[in-house]
Amino acid sequence: MNSVDPVENYKNQTTAGNYFVSNYPPYSFWKTNRISEAFDALEKQSAVDTPLGIYLHIPFCRKRCHFCYFKVYTNNDAAMLENYISSMITEMTLYSKKTSITGRTPKFVYFGGGTPSYLSSRQLISLTEALKDKVSWDDADEITFECEPGTLTENKLDGIRNIGVTRLSLGVENFNDELLKGNGRAHGSKEIDKAYRLARLIGFPQVNIDLIAGMVGETNENWKKCIEKTIDLEPDSVTIYQMEIPFNTTVFQEMKVAGQEVAPVADWQTKRRWVNEAFERLEASGYTITSAYTAVKNPAETRFLYRDFLWTGADLIGLGVASFSHVGGTNYQNQQELSEYKDSLSAGRLPIYRALTPSIEERLIRELILQLKLGEVQPSYFLKKFKIDVNKRFSSALSYLQSQNYIDVGNDNWSLRREGLLQVDNLLAEFFLEKHQNSRYT
Ligand code: SF4
Repeated sequence: MNSVDPVENYKNQTTAGNYFVSNYPPYSFWKTNRISEAFDALEKQSAVDTPLGIYLHIPFCRKRCHFCYFKVYTNNDAAMLENYISSMITEMTLYSKKTSITGRTPKFVYFGGGTPSYLSSRQLISLTEALKDKVSWDDADEITFECEPGTLTENKLDGIRNIGVTRLSLGVENFNDELLKGNGRAHGSKEIDKAYRLARLIGFPQVNIDLIAGMVGETNENWKKCIEKTIDLEPDSVTIYQMEIPFNTTVFQEMKVAGQEVAPVADWQTKRRWVNEAFERLEASGYTITSAYTAVKNPAETRFLYRDFLWTGADLIGLGVASFSHVGGTNYQNQQELSEYKDSLSAGRLPIYRALTPSIEERLIRELILQLKLGEVQPSYFLKKFKIDVNKRFSSALSYLQSQNYIDVGNDNWSLRREGLLQVDNLLAEFFLEKHQNSRYT
């Protein structure tokens, strides 16, 4: 009988903490005493070839999901929403006067949250018009909008289409009512069906379905049904995330009370297997895997410009409470509390809370690890942009990944094998500077 190594077994369990890597250096290195770096970056002319994007954070939701770790507000009245909208408009007005932003035309816009579709059609239209009056995004190639299915009516979807949205991203997560309820989601399967049908009727250029592998209560059988249902709906793209349990989630609070270290969700090996099964079924149905999280039906037409621009160093201004930005090489984040966000804007000042200007080497690592999530990296890109041979600079990380059969290294190409791609977020720390190893992603 094989004996189970208790350390390896424990590492495979889902314990509390962040798994998903979304930026670099880790957020714990961004500092409140460095915000002048962000203000300085905003006063500099931007490089002519750097694309600009806008992220709009709408932090309101009908209910808080048990696995949610975002800053979201669930008890909202009309005045609170109107106030927030007016703060975002003030924020955009301040940005429009900054040297690094004036005269630039955003290439991509992303409405994220929270739940952007929590706003009414009237609010969305008036917000968009007021923001575009300050920084026009009429020429943007991609406008993405995240939705919670239960907030969508025909009128709301018409409004969303009318503000120019090109990709509607439906936060389905699962199709099973019991699981959705058990994980605190506000919507059910009937609302998914209705929202999807209406979205197709209205004719969005791209409809994306978001799924989570490993929600509390997930089983092999139910996950298979979720994959089949997704394939039946024929979305243009599917994004799948593996369930993580960060510290500020309801699930973690319950674990703490019960004195449990292991979260009540599947272990990592099982979650990776589920994502792999989904990828294989989607591939068999004509989809192409274009990143560790994404399958697309038609890669020639269905693109993720937001992701591709950001992961190659585009500028991004993030409007709204706790939003993240990246301008002229400086990373920064907005105030994390609504009151402080609003107070700063009322005083006529951008609500920047913490910042960090990465060194050239850190900027290279940022792009390298983000691009690794696509599964493919071209060393010549880094040689041209940063004058660094990544094959040499990261030879020990590469040797390790090769020894584990996670990556193939060819002539000007690194290619993650499926087993590497499925756990890419676990592997990225191999490329971090030593001082950033073992940092918390909060
Ligand atoms: S819908 Fe999204 S943002 Fe809102 S509570 Fe659920 S996970 Fe959090």
